[in-house]
This record gives sequence, structure tokens and C-alpha cells, in this order.
Amino acid sequence: MLSMLNRACALFVVALLALALFGPEQAFAAERCTVLDAASADARQRINDHLCFYSARPGDPAHSAKFPGALPENLQWQAAQGHDLVFSHTDAVYWVTLTVRNSSPQQAFWFLKLSYPLLDEITFWQHTPDNPGQYTELEPPLQTGDRFPFASRGIDYRYYLLPVTLDAQEERAITLRIHSSGALNVPLSLVTPGEAVAESNHLTLVHGLFYGALLVLAVFNLVLFFSSGTRYYLFNAFYIVSMALFLFAMGGLANQYFWPDSTELANQSIPLGLALCSLAMVLFGGSFLEIESGTLAGKAMQVLAWTSVGFLGASFILPYSKSILLNTFLILSVIASLSVIATIRWRQGYQPAFWYLGAWLVMVVGALLYALAAFGHLGDYQAREVMMQAAIGAQVVLLNYAMVQRWRLLNQKLLDIEQQARTELEFKVHERTTQLRNTMQELEQANRKLASLSLNDALTGLHNRRHMDNIMPELCAEARRTGQPLTLALVDADHFKRINDTWGHDFGDQCLKKIADNLAGHVKRPRDVAIRFGGEEFALLLPETTPDGADTLCQSILQAMRTTVIRTPDGADLCLTLSAGIAALQPGEGPRELFRRADEALYTAKAAGRDQVRGAPGTHEAATKSATN
Ligand code: GH3
Ligand code: MG
Ligand code: MG
Repeated sequence: MLSMLNRACALFVVALLALALFGPEQAFAAERCTVLDAASADARQRINDHLCFYSARPGDPAHSAKFPGALPENLQWQAAQGHDLVFSHTDAVYWVTLTVRNSSPQQAFWFLKLSYPLLDEITFWQHTPDNPGQYTELEPPLQTGDRFPFASRGIDYRYYLLPVTLDAQEERAITLRIHSSGALNVPLSLVTPGEAVAESNHLTLVHGLFYGALLVLAVFNLVLFFSSGTRYYLFNAFYIVSMALFLFAMGGLANQYFWPDSTELANQSIPLGLALCSLAMVLFGGSFLEIESGTLAGKAMQVLAWTSVGFLGASFILPYSKSILLNTFLILSVIASLSVIATIRWRQGYQPAFWYLGAWLVMVVGALLYALAAFGHLGDYQAREVMMQAAIGAQVVLLNYAMVQRWRLLNQKLLDIEQQARTELEFKVHERTTQLRNTMQELEQANRKLASLSLNDALTGLHNRRHMDNIMPELCAEARRTGQPLTLALVDADHFKRINDTWGHDFGDQCLKKIADNLAGHVKRPRDVAIRFGGEEFALLLPETTPDGADTLCQSILQAMRTTVIRTPDGADLCLTLSAGIAALQPGEGPRELFRRADEALYTAKAAGRDQVRGAPGTHEAATKSATN
């Protein structure tokens, strides 16, 4: 939709500019030229009702005439009839005449103002309005135009001003000879000095604001370029400066302030400005729209950029009439190409292209109005100039806004990437943490298993020697502290070597398990500990248990063992016997002594014939007597 609008707009501009440049001459009626009453503000407003002109083509005697007196006597003057004087025949010489009269009772002063600063050669004559062919000059002629140094104007002003002083009731004819390459516009007005000053002040303010704003924006973009290194800021500054220079030249201000003595630049600055604008547009557009160099669009941009550079150089060599045409077509091609590319980029989802297109549209409309006014298709040339400035100003602001949008887009992309990276990182951290936690759990389990393995006996499942060594000091300390008894019973299988020797180790192991089951089955109190601390040697650590209690427990263990029948590999029934030695912790005793005494008691039991329980000396006597055999 917008693409069509763009193309239509571009075509419209081309068509209208072509019409403006080469369009048919306006039709004027041949009528008598009427006198303008300069004292009447109303009459001055309608100056075009009083203008007459003559367009002299080459070969016409009026073409070669250098002053009004040299004009043929029967010249067919044409009345402007209220129309603006706009001519497009570039090789013609234009004669314009106006008769003014001061109807007031005193001498008065006016300026005849020609508000089109780009004319090559103009000569103003003031003479008696007598009979045709009789020209008596009343003032020396004013010969000026941009083929002459700026000082030739007499008055330091960007437009051409002819001072006209008329005595009371005086009537005087003013004749202009204009010769200029390119289409020309002759917006004439007759103003009082007060009006001229007021208008100049007003326009100075408008221009000051406009060019000041452009300058600030250009400097701002340059600062952005130097601080960020982003090239399109530089190109935007270049575009703003080129556009300002072009408008400055178009408005006659460049001629007035930049090169008042260079008639060369006064003429060539317009095509030069156009070529510069084209180059800046291409550079900025290519960079801002992110056009890649290998693509068709990129190649088109390259061609347009080099053409702009070529035309820039050619503007110094070619005559104005040719270079202005070439550069006008160049800039139209650039605008059309960039509009199409921007539309494509926008369609591709590149949002900043939307604001870029908006900026183009505003500029195209402004340029159109200006071009139409410059070539006489719209009235009020000066108002259109201000409108053009407003449009360019809006375009520059929109382009800067587009750059802000682009910056925001890039920033958003950056934030998205950062967010994505953070999410990925968080996910990875989470994944790793879970892995780590699982590994830790596995490790903990393995450690627990290892700890349990290191403290338990693999064959019987009872606690092992290490566990016994660990807890004995604690239990002894606790017993001493609480005054509660602590009894240790050492239990040893009788003649176990024979079992191994007779039925083999495996059977021996089987028997050891039976013994362990027997012990475990009898140790019921939660704090009692059954231990296999050697081959067929077991221990019972019995806190808060008296030697009597231990004796009773050991007796029932021994009894149970005696009555437990184990089937041997050769099918016989076997009953094992155990011997036990008991010792209770004595005051001031440590684990070693306690163990030693229990072992001695065990030895005693063995020595006494085995299959019995013995208490260590000093242990309750009741225990020792209860031995059975
Ligand atoms: P005593 O009645 O004097 O205790 O005689 P004993 O044969 O039981 O005593 P000794 O200490 O001389 O022998 C212990 C035997 O226990 C030696 C070995 O054959 C056996 N033995 C030790 N540890 C294991 C083991 O883990 N498995 C098996 N199957 N037999 C073991
Ligand atoms: Mg033994
Ligand atoms: Mg033994």
C-alpha cells in the first residue's frame, strides 16, 4: 500500500517537475498596460494587473537590444493580467515594464522588489513614460543578477531591490531586461521601505530559527558520531548540512553571505547543492536502512553514490542549464530508489524504515510545493519557501526520530540477547545444580554404605572391631559419669578349628553366622551391642547391665547354642558350644583393662572345660558360680 503510494508520489514529483521545467508558456493577453498608483496599498497588492512583458527569442531584434531605447518601436507588449510572471524558455530575453504613478501630494519612496534570487542578469531602467520609443532615463540603470558580484545590487539584500523615488503626481516607467538560464520566475512587488524592513525582519527570524535548528541538529549528529562511531550519524549530519546549503543557495542567502564575489559559485551552488544532497541521501539511506553491499539495492546505492560524485564534479564544468537538469533527475532517482528500498525494508519487518518513509513523504510534499511555486504553478512564492523549510525541518526531525527508533530497536535486540543468555545460563546453572545435588546424594549414600561397611562385619552383619574400639571409650566414660554398670562379655566358639578342619571353611562360616544370629537374637535392649571382633570371637557390650544380668544373658546364649542343631555337609547333626568371659567396668578402669579382664575370664572358662560362662576376678561372685557344664 505504502509502496504504491511512494511510487505514485515519486512519479507525481517527476511529472510535475518536468512540467514545471518544460511546460508550456503561460498564455497572456495582449492588452494595454495600465498605470499603477504606488500610493495605494491596494493597487500595489495587485501589481500583476499592471505588468506588461515581452518574451524575445533569439533572432528577435528585442533579444539583442541592450537597453529600452533599442527596442523596436512597435513592440507587442503583453499584459500579465494578474498572473505571476513565470517563463520557461531558457534562451529568451524577457522585457518587463511597469508604469507607476505617485498620486499623493508629496514625494514618496518605494522599492520595486524582485523576490527571486537566482536570476543571471537583470537590468532596471527608470524612464519617462512618454511615447513609445522615446526613453529618457531618470536614474542611472541598475545592472545586477548573479552573473555579477553581489555588491552590484547596491542594497545588501538577498532579493533584488530597485529604489524608486517619485515626486508628487510623478509618473514613471520602469523597464526590466532579464536574461537567465533555466526556467525563471519574476515575482515583482512594490513596497514601502517600512514594509521591506518589516518583511526582512520577519524572514530573518524565520531563517534564523530554521538554519539555527539545522545547525544544532547537524552538530548534535556529529557529536553522536564521534562518541558512538556509528556512521549514519555522520551521514545524517552531512545530509542536514547539504540540505541547509542547498536551501541557503536557493534562497539567495549563500550568494549574499558565503560567496558574494564568486559569480561562478552563485550560479553553480544550486546544482552542486543537489548533487551533495543526493550523495548524502544515498550514504545515509544505505547506512540507516542497513542495505547490504552485495544485494541489488546495495549495487543501486553504489551506482547512485558514484553518479552523485560524478555530477558533483560535472557541476563545475557543465553550464548551469545542463547541470541543473542532470542533478534534478539524479535527486529524483535517489528519492524514488530510497523510497522503494525503504518500503521493502519496512515490509521485511525493519520498523525504523517506517519513520524513514514518513520523513521522505513530508520532504517530497514540501519540495513539490516549492517546485510548483518556483515555476509559477502555485501563488505566493515566499510562503511556499517557508513551507519548504518547514517540510525539510520536519523531515530532518523525523529522520532523527527514525534514528532514535533504530537505536531503540538495537537496544531491544541487545536486551533480548542478554535476557536469552541469562535464561540459558540460569537453565544451565539449574541443570548443573541438580546434577551436583544428585551426585552429592549418591556420594552421601556411598559414604553411608562405606561407613556402615567399615563398622560392620561383612560375614555376620554384626558390628566389627573398629566399631567396638570407637564406642568402648564413650561407653566407659558414660558409665563412670552416670555410675551405671557397664559389662563386657567375650564369647568364643569352642574347638572351632576342628569344624573348619573337618568340614571346610565354608561350613565354618555358616556356623559363624549361626552364632551371630544367636547373639543378635538375644541382645534385645536398644543400647546393647553385639560384635564380631575376631575369627570366631564375639563380644557383647552391655551398658546399664550388671554382671548378673550379663551372666544370665550369656547363659541363655550358651544354652541356645547347645540346642541349635546345625546340619553338616556330610549330613550329620552338629551342636556348637560357646565359652564366655564377663567383666564389669571397675572404677578408674579404661577399655583396655576391661577387655583384658573379660579375656582372662574367657580364658578361665576355656581352661575350666569350655561351654561355660566365667566372670573376671572382682566381678560379682554370683556370676562365676553359675557356670554350667
Ligand atoms: P578353643 O576352643 O580353644 O577356642 O579352640 P579353637 O579351635 O576354637 O581355637 P583357636 O583360636 O585355636 O582357633 C580358632 C579357629 O577358628 C581357627 C580358624 O580355623 C577358625 N576361624 C577363625 N576365623 C574364621 C573364619 O572367619 N571363618 C572360619 N570358617 N573359621 C575361622
Ligand atoms: Mg575358639
Ligand atoms: Mg579363638
